[in-house]
Amino acid sequence: MRTPSISDVLHARRVLDSLLPPTPLRSYSALNSTVGIDVLVKHENIQPTGAFKVRGGLNLLAGMPADEQRRGIIGYSTGNHAQSLAYAAARVGAACTIVMPENPNPCKAAAVRALGAEVIEAGAALGEACEYAGKLAAERGARLVSAANEPALIAGVGTSYLEVFEQAPDVDVVVVPVGGGSGAAAACLVASAVAPDCEVVAVQAAASPAAHDSWRSGEIVTRPNQTAAEGLATGSGFELTQGIMRQHLSDFLLVDDDVIAAAQWVLLRDAHTVAERAGAASMAALLAYPQRFAGRRVAVMCTGSNASEDELRGIAQPPVAAAA
Ligand SMILES: *Cc1c(COP(=O)(O)O)cnc(C)c1O
Repeated sequence: MRTPSISDVLHARRVLDSLLPPTPLRSYSALNSTVGIDVLVKHENIQPTGAFKVRGGLNLLAGMPADEQRRGIIGYSTGNHAQSLAYAAARVGAACTIVMPENPNPCKAAAVRALGAEVIEAGAALGEACEYAGKLAAERGARLVSAANEPALIAGVGTSYLEVFEQAPDVDVVVVPVGGGSGAAAACLVASAVAPDCEVVAVQAAASPAAHDSWRSGEIVTRPNQTAAEGLATGSGFELTQGIMRQHLSDFLLVDDDVIAAAQWVLLRDAHTVAERAGAASMAALLAYPQRFAGRRVAVMCTGSNASEDELRGIAQPPVAAAA
């Protein structure tokens, strides 16, 4: 597997230029006063699929040879990678099948179907869904798209970090939530090329720490996978993204699900922004580790907004202990 480079990100930017407008990077005085530092919110939550992953999907499909597009793609996902692939496949007329772990976020499953993709539920968690997707891809001769071991996804996602460093060249830290690690790997690639003094700090849910523990131990590990933040819910590290993170990542923090819930509320109240749990994890890191970010100019990636109905109803009633 080839490690993507900054030129792959620049190429992706050319591909995406006519497909997606840049997303805003905004500052909110109420938010600054809640967290006690200057914070910028990168609004990937307003992408057409409600999450940053669409950058990667569009870049991947645009670069696929026509015969591969004709054979179709198969992905496995808890939702946002699925929407990204379905959106991108529909644009080029490729068939798309998504294997989701059983009982997915119903909003995400419905959105994938609405984009014209086939949804199959298989397995209790992402690992089993992945295994099933692999078998299906072999049977059908379709291209299996990994959630993270895909250079074109990382390169596409990297365009959001080019935007961040153009919008705020003086940012000291960019905080990125991690599941498979494509976002954090992309941030590392772009920061090391265009903003080498900027720290990239990754965040994962403490209840699903596989990427965190893989990075800390320097080897790919498998861990329990129990967070409610499905965008962060992976049970093992991924080789490609871990390799890139090992070279450039400054730090990796864990946050509890109740702090993520508090961060969702803070984003709604202070930034008028609906974030799904994974999309609020960067903000949760600021709430959980204020001393780590004191005096720094911080950009937090608000990576997605695809909260389920129950989750949406709960955002305005965070657990009292967690309310910031
Ligand atoms: C997928 C996802 C993440 C994690 O991104 P990775 O590239 O898998 O590490 C974070 N937030 C949201 C909303 C996501 O959908």
